[in-house]
Amino acid sequence: MRELIDSVHRLDGARGANAYLIEADDRSIVIDTGVPSGAKRLVAELEAARIPAITDVVLTHYDPDHVGAAAAVQRATGATVWLGAMDARILSGEVAPPTRTRRMMRRFNRPGRADLPEVTELPDDAEFEVAPGVVTIPAPGHTPGHHVVRWRGVAFIGDAGLVSKGRLIHLPAMLISDKGQADATLAAITAMRPRLVLPGHGRAGRLD
Ligand SMILES: [Zn+2]
Repeated sequence: MRELIDSVHRLDGARGANAYLIEADDRSIVIDTGVPSGAKRLVAELEAARIPAITDVVLTHYDPDHVGAAAAVQRATGATVWLGAMDARILSGEVAPPTRTRRMMRRFNRPGRADLPEVTELPDDAEFEVAPGVVTIPAPGHTPGHHVVRWRGVAFIGDAGLVSKGRLIHLPAMLISDKGQADATLAAITAMRPRLVLPGHGRAGRLD
């Protein structure tokens, strides 16, 4: 676990995607969890950390490299697991993934029962405060129910974009479910003027 900025840590245990931890007064919030095969390491890392128990896990979206270890963390800690409403329905299988590529990805990487957390839905049409000062903001494009998290000027952006040379760029087009929404989401994150951007993949960075 590495402190990136006051009270925000990157979790080294997670595999396949970046996972972060916010220490916010009496709440500890994990943002994304990596793939299922990293679950043991992630849970061990959280148990070894000298922090109050994890109270919340916010999943930016339903992809297995972000959701994968959430069920294990929930079993270990009893945390509330948050996920955007539309993505929660895709994760549960109630709604089909939005594009052909995503339907194919789903076919080859369907989560096992044990890897499905019990999810509390975030509203996809409004900001929502999951803990004091920790706000989820609908950020569709990569997936329909994607959210970013804002806390004290830090933006946790999941797969809404990557940070490159002081600006935000898109993930590969085949992974975007709606380009118009994805464009609007990147513009909205830039307009937030975050003091630090923490993406789901690649390095953290500041915007010019
Ligand atoms: Zn993703």
